[in-house]
Amino acid sequence: MSRFLLPGIPSLTIDGAGVTAGQSFEVTNPATGERFASAPDASPAQLDAAFEAAARAFRTWRTDDDARRAALHAMADTIAGATGELAPILTAEQGKPLPWSEFEVQGAAGWLRYYADLERGRQVLRDDETALVELVHAPIGPVATIVPWNFPIFIAVAKVAAALRAGNTVVLKPSPYTPLATLRLGELVRDLLPGGVFNVISGGDALGPAMSAHPLARKISFTGSIATGKKVASAAADDLKRLTLELGGNDPAIVLDDADPGVVAEQLFATAFNNNGQACVAPKRVYVAEALRPALVEALAEHARAAKVGDGADAGTDLGPLNNAAQRDRVRELVDGAVAGGATAVTGGRAPEGPGYFYEPTILTDVSDGARIVDEEQFGPALPVIAYRDVEDALDRANGTMFGLGASVWSADADRAAAVAEQIDAGMTWINTHTAIAFDQPFAGAKWSGIGVEAGELGLDAYTDVRVLHRAK
Ligand code: NAD
Repeated sequence: MSRFLLPGIPSLTIDGAGVTAGQSFEVTNPATGERFASAPDASPAQLDAAFEAAARAFRTWRTDDDARRAALHAMADTIAGATGELAPILTAEQGKPLPWSEFEVQGAAGWLRYYADLERGRQVLRDDETALVELVHAPIGPVATIVPWNFPIFIAVAKVAAALRAGNTVVLKPSPYTPLATLRLGELVRDLLPGGVFNVISGGDALGPAMSAHPLARKISFTGSIATGKKVASAAADDLKRLTLELGGNDPAIVLDDADPGVVAEQLFATAFNNNGQACVAPKRVYVAEALRPALVEALAEHARAAKVGDGADAGTDLGPLNNAAQRDRVRELVDGAVAGGATAVTGGRAPEGPGYFYEPTILTDVSDGARIVDEEQFGPALPVIAYRDVEDALDRANGTMFGLGASVWSADADRAAAVAEQIDAGMTWINTHTAIAFDQPFAGAKWSGIGVEAGELGLDAYTDVRVLHRAK
């Protein structure tokens, strides 16, 4: 039996009230494979009710920035105060170790505080004898907010915080794999906001398309796979909804010949296997100078052997299960395919016997571009390490893809690394680190990894339309 049980089916949050649905769907604990809870399956009428409430609430919510700041702070305090309740739910449905769930919930509170406190005035474009011309960032309207299962709370609240502070209202939909902590968060904060400002609905596969096509949604903020992102973009095109897409990545890490393999391996392992490899921005293919390859592979393998894989609810677990069976099967398929093509799994390469969606942390070598595990996003605990001929060759491989989320270059000489990093087509390039993200640092994907920006001031602007206010003198 699962050690974690919810008292009942959590409610939807629509127009500031708890609402039950006629239908529900089951949620699985990925560490045990047990269906341990149910979530409401919102009906089309409930989806309409959420957007209608969001459209009504928008009329007044947009007018009072002080009220918005205060509400965001109140939400942050409530969410941070509920870490002890939300984090175990998140671990039970997502699989990640409990300390990481706690970190995620605290991070969500951090987004709310960051956006509550951000100072954003009007920009005076011209003030002369003929006119005062100002640039105004106006909110857009109800935002359809659709998120994936890897960081359900952190990603959702990043969007919600920016959207609400900018004066928009929100209808939020978590992934059907991870709806519970998000629904509970909605229950906890619903009394802190005017009805309709923040609505949380959950449901099955039909709900996302219905949201992105909804006529009352004026913006879609979507994080998920590239394939789904393209469908969302098509849906948005029909009535020119504003769009933010944060999509998949296949980040290259280029290790130059003067790097210290031991130092690099420690950081590469920590970032590539963060959240058990289920992170959009993370090293997913390592290109290393041939002379360093054996030492780097062995150092990475040592970290992989030392990592404790287990139920995220158990103390001392480093890596939990994959979130769902399909994702575990995908990782297995990509690794098996690489090995069949001549790759060596120095560690791992198999799913252990027993319940749950576990996969052993896997370091692959003797593999190259052309193998699916290099060319596609694996989104799991398997990292290919590939030798390059020279830096030009490494750059060609790094850029020879439609992915463009993150990238890193590793070297004893940061300036040398920076010169290489500047040639990589990615939204974020790091030197001697990876996945170093922050509230005030724009987060954006190049090429197929995204459209638009999240985080920082640009992330707030993304929830606004630009208006020019021209006063003749
Ligand atoms: P997914 O695209 O399958 O699902 C994401 C969300 O979209 C879910 O809530 C899902 O229910 C919903 N959805 C499914 N079909 C839809 C449709 N036709 N219209 C609208 N919504 C729809 O992604 P996933 O498997 O949940 O997440 C993993 C992917 O997300 C990976 O590719 C990962 O890289 C990416 N991701 C990107 C970022 C980023 O910021 N760039 C962050 C996290 C995850």
